[in-house]
Amino acid sequence: MITALKVRLEPNNKQMSKLFQSAGAARWAFNWTITKQEENYKNGGKFISNFDLRKELTILKQTDELKWLNNYSNNITKQAIKDACDAYYKFFKGFSEKPKFKSRKKSPPKFYQDTEKIKFQDGKVRLEKIGWVNLSEKDRIPENAKYTNPRVKFDGINWYVTVGIEIERDPVELTGESIGIDVGIKDLAICSNMEKPYKNINKTKKVKKLEKKMRRLQRKLSNKYEENKEGRSYVKTGNIIKLEKDIRKLHKHLDNIRTDNRQKVTTEIVKTKPSRIVMEDLNVKGMMKNKHLSKAIAQQGLYEFKLMMQYKCERQGTEFVEADKWYPSSKTCSECGHVKTKLSLSERVFACDNCGTVIDRDKNASINLSRYKVS
Ligand SMILES: [Zn+2]
Repeated sequence: MITALKVRLEPNNKQMSKLFQSAGAARWAFNWTITKQEENYKNGGKFISNFDLRKELTILKQTDELKWLNNYSNNITKQAIKDACDAYYKFFKGFSEKPKFKSRKKSPPKFYQDTEKIKFQDGKVRLEKIGWVNLSEKDRIPENAKYTNPRVKFDGINWYVTVGIEIERDPVELTGESIGIDVGIKDLAICSNMEKPYKNINKTKKVKKLEKKMRRLQRKLSNKYEENKEGRSYVKTGNIIKLEKDIRKLHKHLDNIRTDNRQKVTTEIVKTKPSRIVMEDLNVKGMMKNKHLSKAIAQQGLYEFKLMMQYKCERQGTEFVEADKWYPSSKTCSECGHVKTKLSLSERVFACDNCGTVIDRDKNASINLSRYKVS
């Protein structure tokens, strides 16, 4: 079975601009291809093959006007031309609508990577002409595997790499049950089939203590920088170098605690062997608008949690469903189906005006999610 794995990238600033530029090159090549095909079609010509267009672009890349394309992997434009040709061919044969031009504003930035050249190692991915980029999950994508259709995409907030990979499915007997998982800030996850919620690890004594230590180190570091300032320039003393190393180590440590916790929780949930798992749409952008919330969500790693859940489901054949963001999982009474018009975030208990049921807000939402019907 081929499954698509998706992992978030953690690029530095330089890599970040390279990512956007690479997506720009892909968009340019896609639009160039559509323009070519369209002009030719209007003049009564037949469909131009992807091979011919690639050859033409290779020659054009030697001109002053288009030599900028040489800063990006040849495979990016090659694949963009192929994608555009495939789309145009479907239109040409009457199977689909005419492909639209990709706009900078409306089309999500993305580009292709060569299956042979992409490499995964030590929690990093090597992207052509961009270099080794850190990944948010270390062991998610196996090293030295056979990868299919690698793509790099931006979702409006983060960059991700996706690759297809051959995996063996664990033969598991499923229970036939559909469960709902409500994720949040107060608790990490509330499952419809479990009594207790999984706590937010950032609220534990252990993590709070480490966070406090981190703040102390950071304060110390900025003081040291001030103390050793020479005129207007900052000097890195041995002490500062050591402090910076300690901070990096502590970051890593905190990161590992959070990732391990996500691994543990997702594995435990999947081990209940449900036939279906429903999670809500995190409505990324809506939630991210709130600065306070967005920091908490990032720390909780709710996106990573969901991705982990998804691939563990796929591995054992559990159907993974994402409820539509308009599905009123929180506002609906799981007992009688009555839907409230208002429910503020501060209301931690759901009290039904219709049947009088009183239930924990998140538990109620998880039960509703378990019953979600795909329309
Ligand atoms: Zn009710």
